[in-house]
Amino acid sequence: QCFKSYVEERLRELDQLQSQLALTNQELTRLVRTSQENLSLLAHELKTPLNSIIGYSELFLRQQQRQQFEVKDNFPSIENIERVLRHGRGLLRLINNVLELSRYEAGNMQLQLTEIDVRLVVNSVMEMLEPVALAKGLILDIDYDAAPAKIATDPLRLQQVITNLISNAIRYTDTGTVHVQCHSLPDQHWSIAIADTGLGISSEDQVRVFDPYFRVNDHSPSVLPESTGLGLAIVARLVQLLQGQIQLVSELHVGSTFTVVFPQHISAANPSIGLTSLV
Ligand code: ADP
Repeated sequence: QCFKSYVEERLRELDQLQSQLALTNQELTRLVRTSQENLSLLAHELKTPLNSIIGYSELFLRQQQRQQFEVKDNFPSIENIERVLRHGRGLLRLINNVLELSRYEAGNMQLQLTEIDVRLVVNSVMEMLEPVALAKGLILDIDYDAAPAKIATDPLRLQQVITNLISNAIRYTDTGTVHVQCHSLPDQHWSIAIADTGLGISSEDQVRVFDPYFRVNDHSPSVLPESTGLGLAIVARLVQLLQGQIQLVSELHVGSTFTVVFPQHISAANPSIGLTSLV
């Protein structure tokens, strides 16, 4: 009798193990599929700027060959050189972003926590981006509505989040204002909201803007070489790493507000990172 119940118990354990194994198998298959999909997305993204760089270089070469026979040709035009440079820079940005994401996914991002004044971080980003906003004729302003004087965070990662959100706000706004607002919240939290009067994002696209390589179709033509579709994917992961939350409210042709909420003191423990492969 004793032996029989022992065997039954082991059989039950075996059953449980089998179903766990089936689940792991499913998860692995999903991961392999996601990696393959992401790899083909990346290859596709690399192809566009590379094709353009190769195309222009061929054009320059042909112009130079012609130049050897006909002296007057204006070789190569400044605009074309600028185009090649823009595509080259876009490519570099894409590669840097992909590396950043894969470092995050591999769990290799360690937080460097320090006590700082949140204004110092935000001010340095504002200083860096103000000339970019001015060059487009936009107003970039800030309102520290009882912003916390001291927070414990990783200043570089926080700076990266804010830089990405403000530069997006400037990039996707043609006229008007980019308004940044810093608040203290109850329960030892604080928030930063970046509101623009720009192109806006439709409700269907709002759920996808944090996906890697996603770009809103209507926005792309004017900014394509600089756009990687990875900025917000990185922001979402950094916000998670900094134990915060991100929210988007937007209306097409009216504007967008990205709000990030963080605890005033984050703990050093690395939050668990999902097993989603990005490359
Ligand atoms: P990138 O800007 O490099 O394309 P992001 O991941 O930062 O990549 O953004 C994804 C897409 O979301 C952008 O291509 C753009 O279409 C849209 N987007 C991001 N920020 C804004 C904004 N403030 N206003 C309107 N559209 C935005």
